[in-house]
Amino acid sequence: MVSKILVSACLMGHAVRYDGRAKPLIHPAIEGWMREGLLVTLCPEMSAGMPVPRPPAEIADAATGEDVLAGSGRVIELTGGDVTNEFLKAADNAVRLATANGCRYALLIDGSPSCGSGFIYDGSFSGSRRSGNGVTAAALRHAGIEVFSDREIDRLIARIDREA
Ligand code: SF4
Repeated sequence: MVSKILVSACLMGHAVRYDGRAKPLIHPAIEGWMREGLLVTLCPEMSAGMPVPRPPAEIADAATGEDVLAGSGRVIELTGGDVTNEFLKAADNAVRLATANGCRYALLIDGSPSCGSGFIYDGSFSGSRRSGNGVTAAALRHAGIEVFSDREIDRLIARIDREA
């Protein structure tokens, strides 16, 4: 049996993003995995009690999710609030849920300070990107889960084909 996939709730069409919107990923593979019961859907930030909508947040000072996990990075809202603890709880929730459900893979939306895995924003709220993981993606990778961004769904399909 193919391993399960933890998936960002906003990719599944849930309106859970900071701006109250979803960002659905329409792809036949998603429908197939859903029919096979392989998807475990989570919004890490909502699981940590964050509301919808909420102020946008970025990892400050061009740091990464790994820095936040190590205690040297902070996650700050545009309005100045420090939500580092919430983001750490979100990451922990994601690892726990993925582990409890036997997820070998995660398919996460890119750019988010939680779910980003190819790029994140640099903390200046100016739209500047840097490569790196958000906090949840970093924690999942640390736990041995293979993380794919929404732009890498074809790589995930190929990876699962090799497993099957
Ligand atoms: S934490 Fe992840 S799942 Fe939740 S809204 Fe942000 S990108 Fe989507």
